[in-house]
This record gives sequence, structure tokens and C-alpha cells, in this order.
Amino acid sequence: MVVLALIGCASAAVLAYSFYRLHEFFYPVMIAPFFWGLMLGKVLSSGVTRCKCRNPLVAGCAGLLCGCVSYVAYLELENRAYRREVMDILEREGVPTTQRDRAYDRLLGIEPGQIRSFGELRRRAEIGITITDAPGGRARPTDQRISGVGMCVYWAIELLLIAGFAALLPAGAAKHPYCESCNRWYEEIESLGLPVARLPEARTAIDRRDAPGLAACITSSDDCGVLSLWGCSACRHADIRVHLEQITDTKHREKARKTLHDEMLTRTEAEPILQSLLPPGHPQRPDAPTSPRP
Ligand SMILES: [Zn+2]
Repeated sequence: MVVLALIGCASAAVLAYSFYRLHEFFYPVMIAPFFWGLMLGKVLSSGVTRCKCRNPLVAGCAGLLCGCVSYVAYLELENRAYRREVMDILEREGVPTTQRDRAYDRLLGIEPGQIRSFGELRRRAEIGITITDAPGGRARPTDQRISGVGMCVYWAIELLLIAGFAALLPAGAAKHPYCESCNRWYEEIESLGLPVARLPEARTAIDRRDAPGLAACITSSDDCGVLSLWGCSACRHADIRVHLEQITDTKHREKARKTLHDEMLTRTEAEPILQSLLPPGHPQRPDAPTSPRP
């Protein structure tokens, strides 16, 4: 857990600083927080796998916390940039050093000694931002401007995107099947292709635990349909995960995967399926000789 916390804090800090620096040059609205959340979520997911965290709630809360910390750190960096900017202006206007802090607090509408962050956020919301696609970020009069409540909504949406991805991805990773007796994550033990037309039949065969029927569906190496079997690679008593999916090509030359069936079968239920689908000599086949454990 300490390792997961360290990974989370480090990636939250690195991403907050990176996006703060990026914002100085260019900041694609809504796309930046999307990638920010995605990257944080991916890093945390690998942390969850590495730390063998199997509690989706713990993984999700850790992600949520890291997402919030990362975004708050980013807002604070922006606050400090605003503070430096105003202090520079006060200096240029000849305000004496001893009075600059007081002048700045007055601008924020806070008493001396109070925490400035909220005052700065309020002030920055009043000023708002201009969303532009003009080169170099130079705003045009026709560009969309948001300020006040709109600015708070904008920040809230960004926070939601970042914290949402940062929470959901590791929570999903923690749900991955795990062999408690061997203390290791499940691995894919076999992947078989089948034609898309036979997918409904394969699904029914899994439902009926009909091993010969399922084997009969595997007729080609056509990759439109994929039946994958997951299990523990270190033992031969863990449950077996049966996953059936359809793969289609999208417009962007990518593959879209749609899960049609995903089920954990007990070892007893899975044995006829393993026997008929795995090639002879496969270590997970029920008739394979028991090899000494690694
Ligand atoms: Zn095992």
C-alpha cells in the first residue's frame, strides 16, 4: 500500500507540474484533462497490479484522492503564477516592497494573514479565460469567454474528468481475477479464434457447460471472435475465467472489442472445456502430467 501511495503521489505531482507548464504554451480544452486523468489512471492501475491490491474500493478511493490532489496542486501552481504576475505589476508601478503584500491582499479582498488560495481562485474566476483556437493563443473578439460561475463549472468538469479516470481505471484493475492461494494475478492461458457467425452458438455452449459444442465452434483462426481462457499459471486448482469477445475494425484502423460473455467457472465446471480446447501437452490440461511447482 505504501508503494501504491508513493506511485500515486509522485505521478499526481509530475502530471500537475507538466500540465501547468503545458498551459503556458497551449492547453486543449477538455482534451488535456482527459489525457491527464487517463495517464494518472494508467499509472495507478499498474501500481494496483504491482502491489496486488484486490479491493476495487481501496483502489478507486486512492485514484480519486490522487486525481483531486493532482488538480488542486495544478490550481495552486496557477495561483502562484497569478501572484507573481500581480507582484511584478505592483513593482513596476513603484509600490514599495513593504506594502505590496497588503496591496495584493486588498485586491483579493482578504485580511492580512489569511490563506490566499481561495481569494486567488475567486479573483481568477472573476477574470476568467478565453477559449481560442487562434495560433499562439492570441484571443480574438469573437472567441468564447468564460468567467465567474462559468469558470467554477469549467474547473469542476476538469476535476471530474481527472479524478473520474484516476478512480475508475485502478478500480477496474483491482477487479482482475487473482489466485489467492498462489498470490498471483490470472494470466491468459489460451486464446482461440472463431468466426463471428458462431459467437452466439459459443455463448450458448458456455452457458450449458457444453465442452464438445464449444470446441465445435472453434473452426478457424478468424480473429473476429476470440475465446480466451484465463487462469492461474502456477496451479491447477484455481477457477477459470472464460471470456468471449467480438473484435471489429473501426474507421480509424483500430480494433473495437466487445465482450459478449465473461464468467468465472469452477475448476470442476471448466475441466471438460479445458480438456477439449487446450492442445495436448498444455500444462493446464486436466490430463497433463503434474509438473513440480516452479
Ligand atoms: Zn494458483
